[in-house]
Amino acid sequence: MKVMLKTIRFTLLIASCLVISESGFAQTHKVPSLKGKNVLIVYGGWKGHNPQAFVERITPWLKSEGAIITTSESLDSYTDEKLMAETDLVIQSWTMGKISKEQVKGLLKAVKNGTGLAGCHGGIGDSFRDQSEYLFMVGGQWAAHPGGKINYEVNICDTEDPITEGLSDFKVDNTEQYYMLVDPNSKVLATTTFSGEHDSWIEGAVIPVVWKKYYGKGRVYNLSIGHEPKDFDNPSVWTLLKRGFAWAAESKYQAKENLISPVYKSKD
Ligand SMILES: [Zn+2]
Repeated sequence: MKVMLKTIRFTLLIASCLVISESGFAQTHKVPSLKGKNVLIVYGGWKGHNPQAFVERITPWLKSEGAIITTSESLDSYTDEKLMAETDLVIQSWTMGKISKEQVKGLLKAVKNGTGLAGCHGGIGDSFRDQSEYLFMVGGQWAAHPGGKINYEVNICDTEDPITEGLSDFKVDNTEQYYMLVDPNSKVLATTTFSGEHDSWIEGAVIPVVWKKYYGKGRVYNLSIGHEPKDFDNPSVWTLLKRGFAWAAESKYQAKENLISPVYKSKD
């Protein structure tokens, strides 16, 4: 009887701590909402990624969260110092393309000072290939997607982080499996393993899909899925996008986390 009561008490305790998010994934730490946050969406670049469709996909959600949204099709927005200083989160969807010295300087400065930066797929992880400081900020660059559009699995490697809490490994269909070259010190939340079917020499290679990091005071969030808006029909992918973007908008309001997570052995 005593044991039973204890079990019931424990169950009740767990139940009271868990928050079931709107996507149905349990969380003990709810990611803060975007209510009242200034969000700047900058989109353009390679048309193959249909950045306009991405913006149309995320805007209703941002509105429902209560975010104050500014949308721009010009990288010149990054040179607007006032706008950038007031922005809590830059969502960028700009594959490849060129960015001027002044434009990249404006973006780097804002993030260094606490504006968050988040994006998906090539919109953040394959932008402005000739800009090393941009790459340093994002912490990764797309290199290949062997086989083109394929089915693959995503593995959650951190179940405690509020962004991935409650999520399990999941499959994505008919989309690109990004082989990213990454900063091995970022905090990786999800990975994917390459089968070797398309490029035999990478069989067993493990590559990050989701990571979070800082650049100065600004939070940077990368999700490598999102070749087409239909990728976000997958509830796990959509949850990773929403939670990660909300997390990145909080740099100015939450204590800095220590996200340095070296993969390689340190000097000690
Ligand atoms: Zn793509």
